[in-house]
Formats: sequence, C-alpha cells, structure tokens
Amino acid sequence: MLDIRTELTTNPKEKPAVDELGFGHYFTDHMFIVEYTEGKGWHDAKITQYQPIPMYPSSMVFHYGQSVFEGLKAYKTVDGEVLLFRPDRNFARLNKSNERLVIPAIDEEFALEALKQLVSIDRDWVPNALGTSLYIRPFIIATEANLGVHPSKNYKFIIIMSPSGSYYKGGINPVKIMVEQQFVRAVKGGTGEAKTGGNYASALKGQEIAEKEGYAQTLWLDGKENKYVEEVGSMNIFFKINGTVITPELNGSILAGITRDSMIQVLKSKNVPVEERRISINEIVEASHNGTLEEVFGTGTAAVISPVGELKYLDEKLIINDGKIGEVSQMLYDTLTGIQNGTIEDTFGWTIK
Ligand code: PMP
Repeated sequence: MLDIRTELTTNPKEKPAVDELGFGHYFTDHMFIVEYTEGKGWHDAKITQYQPIPMYPSSMVFHYGQSVFEGLKAYKTVDGEVLLFRPDRNFARLNKSNERLVIPAIDEEFALEALKQLVSIDRDWVPNALGTSLYIRPFIIATEANLGVHPSKNYKFIIIMSPSGSYYKGGINPVKIMVEQQFVRAVKGGTGEAKTGGNYASALKGQEIAEKEGYAQTLWLDGKENKYVEEVGSMNIFFKINGTVITPELNGSILAGITRDSMIQVLKSKNVPVEERRISINEIVEASHNGTLEEVFGTGTAAVISPVGELKYLDEKLIINDGKIGEVSQMLYDTLTGIQNGTIEDTFGWTIK
C-alpha cells in the first residue's frame, strides 16, 4: 500500500457555528490528494492543508468533463464516537464510475485507509448537534494538459470534507417534486449509472424551472418513452402502493444509491413487502386517483429519507398522504438516523469507527 505523507496545517481555521453550517459552504482544515501519471500509476499520496490546486487551463477535465465523484458522511454518535456509513460501497461505486469514464481504478482499501486518516485528523470538524454530519466528497479529475479528445494520461484523486447542517430544520418535512416533462437525465447506454459531473450539469435546467414553480427537485422519467419513473435529482424514489413499497429497478440509467440499498434491506428485515421493478408514472397517477398511493419518499446521503407531499405531473398536482409524513417513511428515517448516531444497534454491520 502507498505511504501517505502528512503535512498538518499550522494555521487551523475557526469552525463555523452549527446553525450557520447549511450544506457545502465550509471545508475542514485538511484534504487528501494522490496523483496518477500514466506509466507510473497512483503516487505521492498526502494529507495536506485544504488549499487551491494548481492546474493548467488546458487540463482535460475543464473541457470534456472526465470526472467522477462520491458523497458520504461521517457522523458523531451520542457517545462522541465518529462513524462512517458503508464507505466501502462508495469506493466500490467510484470504481464503477471510473470504469465508465475510462479513469484508472483506485485501490478501494487504500482509499478507505486514507479517508479514515483524514477524518481522524479533522475529527473535531464532525459536528455533533442532532441531524448534523461531516459531508465527505471524494472525486477524481483528468489533469492532462491537452485538448485532444481521449482519456487523460494524468489524474488527481482528492477527498475534501464539509461540515453540514441538518437537511431539515425542525424534523423531517415533506417536499414538493415536479415530474420532468421537457428534459431527460439519462438514456440506455449513457452515463446515468455513473456519478459524473455531466449528469448534474445537464439536470440544472430542469431544476431551475422546477424551483421557479416552487418545487424542490425534479423526478426524472426514462429517456426513451418518457413513461417510466427513474429517480429524483439527488435521491432514489420509493412509492408505497396498497401496502407494498416499490422502487424502480436498477436499469443502467439510475444511480445505485447506497441509501436505497440500505432501506430495501431494512424494509425486508421488518417484513414490509418491497419490490424493485419498472413502474410507470401512469401507475402512480392511477394509484393516487383510486386512493392506494399511500406514501412517496426519496432516499439519499444528503436527504436521508425525504417524504414527498406533492407530485406535479402535467397539469395535475397529486397530494400524497394529505401532505403528511407516512408511517414507513418515518420508520426508515428513525432507523437510519438511529444507526448513524449510535442510538440503534447496527445489526447490519454498516458503520465503521
Ligand atoms: N441519485 C442521484 C442522482 C444522486 O446524486 C444520489 C446521491 N448520491 C442518489 C441517487 C442517492 O444515492 P446515495 O443514497 O448513495 O446517496
């Protein structure tokens, strides 16, 4: 395994107040960085002060978007321990994205070791107020200074960390989601399943329109027929219809959410019927009309469990569960946050210290 050089800052920053955190505004004192050079592989790993990185304007990532990223969190438990939630899954998914974007694979075990060291150095940055956490952003960018369209010969793999506030001020609150009609996020054979910047750039336009109309995020339908439900901007989506929880199956164009997988396992462990299958927007509209659409919720690292109170599709506004939080959504939220803050025993073996 590569050695990790450590250059601690002599100038630590002042930490922001918990109620000012928000999401993604502040960064901890340190970051991890390792270089890749063709012929040499990954080399020069270090943990150093969080700082700007020198790059040529011709660096390939600026032009052709060859980049991948991940998102996970460290949580402080009620006993003051720091936990990571399924970080091995994030590095496995990063390598899956690497494969699609023709970026060299990382050593997943090494990445986890680097992350543990980084979190340990900046552990005072993990906030401990209810609902807060340290958001962790590993990413890889193509750094070769060359305008030819081909896979870059050089890369940087970096991990930065950002203390983040509670996603919901004052407990979980149902959000309003707009079903996207004009744009698509992903198509069969595209990059939908990869966590790569381009997917998010192409989603901005629809997101902007949705926000102008008062909706928090968009729900994407499939790119071919505009008929089957895929996922939300940064969450996977679940529907409870007549007692059964249904989520779109992984079809290559949906991100395989780690929260999604975890919640399917929790549902199964509680004997709640759960199905991963293709589900059309018409089936959901029909269920809403005949009174069997009981709950809708999104799952994601940032959003945790996000109940949906309203779905706008074409000119119709479907109100779900009177805009209130459903039983299953609440149970999943309590279970997940309980495992993460150490108040519920982690029988699944998902957390690591
Ligand atoms: N879908 C998309 C498009 C996302 O960006 C995310 C957030 N990573 C998710 C789903 C949820 O994934 P996870 O549960 O791993 O955070």
